[in-house]
Amino acid sequence: MRIAPHHVPGTAEHRLSEMLRPDPTYKPHRPWPAECTVQWGHGIAPATPFFEAFLPGTFIRGEGRTIAEAEDRAFDQYAGEQTCRHLWGRQRPGRDLYLNGAGWCRRCSAFRSEMFRPVVTLGAHRRPLRRMEVYHLDSMENDHEMNERMNARYPERRKDRERLAKLLRIRMNLYGSTDED
Ligand SMILES: [Zn+2]
Repeated sequence: MRIAPHHVPGTAEHRLSEMLRPDPTYKPHRPWPAECTVQWGHGIAPATPFFEAFLPGTFIRGEGRTIAEAEDRAFDQYAGEQTCRHLWGRQRPGRDLYLNGAGWCRRCSAFRSEMFRPVVTLGAHRRPLRRMEVYHLDSMENDHEMNERMNARYPERRKDRERLAKLLRIRMNLYGSTDED
């Protein structure tokens, strides 16, 4: 288990976090796997204690009367997911239908960010870039310092970022840009 850096004294993230609000003293007590990153705290409004676990391709959040109880709930969800014979769908149980490739298990409510291929709208890319997209393309093509920082921090997203830059460049060449936000 990795502890999120804003809970670790001495890191820049911890200094920033302490400036915003004191970090509640807490030590996780359940056997989370090595590749899992965890964080915890009290919500802002309402101030519900929560515990969150980030695992490859998924995310689990527990809430409770205390952070310890929130961790227990999150861990029980995690443990339940290990034994479930998952039945995946694009419908989030009791909520919306997602078309971006996310999936939820109908039996245990497990979440996976890339369970399906996204549902695409034909022709969606045949349009000029909006103002934000022009800005985004410019920073990805020219701000080498930012790219290096992003790639060092999120190496697993490098491919997606390069793919997006390429797509925006093609749209820019074919359809130009507008002033729309
Ligand atoms: Zn399941």
